[in-house]
Amino acid sequence: QRQAYQALRVQPAITLDGIKIRLSINAAFLADLVGFEESGADGIGLFRTELAFMTRSTLPTVADQAAHYRDVLDRTQGKPVIFRTLDIGSDKQVSYWRMPAEDNPALGWRAMRMMLDRPAILAAQLRAMARAAAERELYIMFPMVADVDELIAARRILDREVNQARLAGQGPRQVTVGVMLEVPALMFQLDDLLPLIDFVSVGTNDLAQFLFACDRGNPAVAERYDLLSPALLNLIEHLAQRCQAYGVSLGVCGEMASRPIEAMALVALGVHHLSVVASEIGPIKAMIRSLDASRLREFLHTARNWAGRRTGGSHLRASMIDWA
Ligand code: PEP
Ligand code: MG
Repeated sequence: QRQAYQALRVQPAITLDGIKIRLSINAAFLADLVGFEESGADGIGLFRTELAFMTRSTLPTVADQAAHYRDVLDRTQGKPVIFRTLDIGSDKQVSYWRMPAEDNPALGWRAMRMMLDRPAILAAQLRAMARAAAERELYIMFPMVADVDELIAARRILDREVNQARLAGQGPRQVTVGVMLEVPALMFQLDDLLPLIDFVSVGTNDLAQFLFACDRGNPAVAERYDLLSPALLNLIEHLAQRCQAYGVSLGVCGEMASRPIEAMALVALGVHHLSVVASEIGPIKAMIRSLDASRLREFLHTARNWAGRRTGGSHLRASMIDWA
């Protein structure tokens, strides 16, 4: 099977009915890029920058960060690398960062909330990214955005850093900006949000946690709600329609995209970019190339209607497996 996947390396990820899917990997360290070239991935759809901060004992300087981001860009042969700004707090702790004790850390002081309260740290990271991407294209993604104003504030800092890097003759050629959709509140601000950005990437790990109100780290509830439930599928489909209307690219970088049955549903509902665990590139590409997305979409519409009224996600999963 490994050989069959290897043969697919140079083949495009395109469905039977002609929909081209961008297939990227999630990464956090240079070690994750071993084998990147052979994998046939279209780029890095989620680069988790906080992991490098978590494995150190001191805050990295701008120069340290820039060198690291430059290494990442050098190893990916000009393919797009989406850098996510620091997503610290909750399940991602940094030893040298004094954090307040919180009763509900997943709902607490984390990611963008922390960065906008400590804008010098965000500015330093964006400065490092702008320098690392000198003469190249820079892709930036902001995590855990709950309110359009947070994006506007972060974007202002980004624009300032990019302009300064350009004035110093070492800025990026072009900057592409997106947000992670992880907080359900953002779904109700799409008309304000989408004109301001180039792409949306759904973080289904956190989104499912907040949508179903269940702690992603608590095994008693983490698997309780099937990702193929009408609640999540309806959300994705609506989001895909709005993104299309605004010409905004829609991807999924949460773990849902790395599972073939789930990924099938995402593609059928209008998601055009999947960012997956590197080892899943082969299986997901094979799935995409054997999928008739419009037929599955029709099937989901009928199946979802009756499954929704009965037992939700697990019913829909069973009928999708039969379908496949
Ligand atoms: C997510 O929440 O789905 C996501 C991709 O981010 P992380 O798992 O790093 O929180
Ligand atoms: Mg997340």
